[in-house]
Amino acid sequence: MNPRRTKIVATLGPATRSPEQIEQMMLAGMNVARLNFSHGSHDEHRQSAQRIRSIAHKLQKHIAIMVDLQGPKIRIARFINGQVLLQASQTFILSNTHPHNEGTAHIVGIDYPALITDCQPGDELLLDDGRIVLEITHIEGQEVHTRVLAGGPLSNNKGINRKGGGLSAPSLTAKDKEDIKIAADIEADYIAVSFPRYGSDIEQARQLARQAGSKAWIVAKIERAEAVADDQALDELITASDAVMVARGDLGVEVGDAELAGIQKKIILHARTLNKVVITATQMMESMIANPIPTRAEVSDVANAVLDYTDAVMLSAESATGNYPLEAVMAMSRICIGAEKHPTSNKSGHRLGQVFPRCDETIALSAMYAANHFPGVKAIVSLSESGHTPLIMSRIRSGVPIYCFTRHRETQNRAALFRGVYPVNFDNSHLDPTLLMQAVLEELKNHQPLETGDWIIITNGDLSAPCNGTNSMKLICVN
Ligand code: PGA
Ligand code: MN
Repeated sequence: MNPRRTKIVATLGPATRSPEQIEQMMLAGMNVARLNFSHGSHDEHRQSAQRIRSIAHKLQKHIAIMVDLQGPKIRIARFINGQVLLQASQTFILSNTHPHNEGTAHIVGIDYPALITDCQPGDELLLDDGRIVLEITHIEGQEVHTRVLAGGPLSNNKGINRKGGGLSAPSLTAKDKEDIKIAADIEADYIAVSFPRYGSDIEQARQLARQAGSKAWIVAKIERAEAVADDQALDELITASDAVMVARGDLGVEVGDAELAGIQKKIILHARTLNKVVITATQMMESMIANPIPTRAEVSDVANAVLDYTDAVMLSAESATGNYPLEAVMAMSRICIGAEKHPTSNKSGHRLGQVFPRCDETIALSAMYAANHFPGVKAIVSLSESGHTPLIMSRIRSGVPIYCFTRHRETQNRAALFRGVYPVNFDNSHLDPTLLMQAVLEELKNHQPLETGDWIIITNGDLSAPCNGTNSMKLICVN
């Protein structure tokens, strides 16, 4: 059986923080551990990061760490009794001045003064990921007066979104800026920015990360209506990032659930075309918070994302606070493997009829063309420094595994997120070049069964050539 190509990002939380649990999550198939900075203390996150590193080392696995910044999530304050019940068609007030711990079924505080100016009568506000819907009737001083369209229980600190987007809060908050320093400290491989509007939000995060000494790749969470309003806005945001997340929780609230599946396909396609990594996230296995098996709808949802050719699928509450985190990872893993057998997962029409701007890109795409059309090819080995060549390769649909041989730990961890790419620790910097191919074959045999007559493709950079990076490709027959 082929190894799973689609990667699994799992959020760690109270259900999965102990060393034993982290080890089991890795053994079950987690490729990237997400630390959600909306919850938990810095000490907890540092401790989780240390555990992830030492257990990955012990198991000889390459596991990336993704720090997910909280961002400007707008929230209601708290209720006197922790929770209230809103009835359809009653009135309900969101107030900038109401005391923060004294919310009732009629009025609650908020911590976002600009709500008053960002909204107008007739707008719909969605609370708690859209479970509660409020229609604004009028704005009076520091209070937004609403009528409840969809009622139900509402508890402390739930998030607020405006249908259609348009809330003006800047993407990086003071807390995010502090959290980027922690991310640098724990050597996060990826930093995810919440609610970015423009490429400049991503640039700013990257700059702060670099100032703090972090080499992390920056992930744009696509979760504002404005970010997907037109192709130009979307592509600008994708281009500024190293990877993107289809953040369906907030995005679904802002654009409405009817648009979501189409937008997911579009984001994945655009990300891949622009040579970026893409993660599909939120509520993929939601019912597994409470149940050991997924619903048929969830099975189809994960499979659909795999067929859309996402790099990774993500677990949030399922693995952070749910009752069945391991089962959720294992279910995701087997559904991915199942969906990857579908013929559309292995054929590619990617960038036919386009010119390639770079030498390494040309070699990467040639290697994939060869791999997909020469039946004997069992594996591709890309000798890589930055991981750029295997990244480009894995933008192409294929059933042939891509091994990223590299001596750099950052590259090994980062490549853990790329679909169909398997990182291998390999240092050829002191090796006599005439012995290189044999050494590659020997190492590859530790990861993949090979038989006499199998072919492998090896790409690497010829250091004496004027062009930097990958500039050669070899086809080798195993004997
Ligand atoms: P969150 O982001 O879980 O941090 O809200 C993901 C999403 O909105 O889908
Ligand atoms: Mn979100």
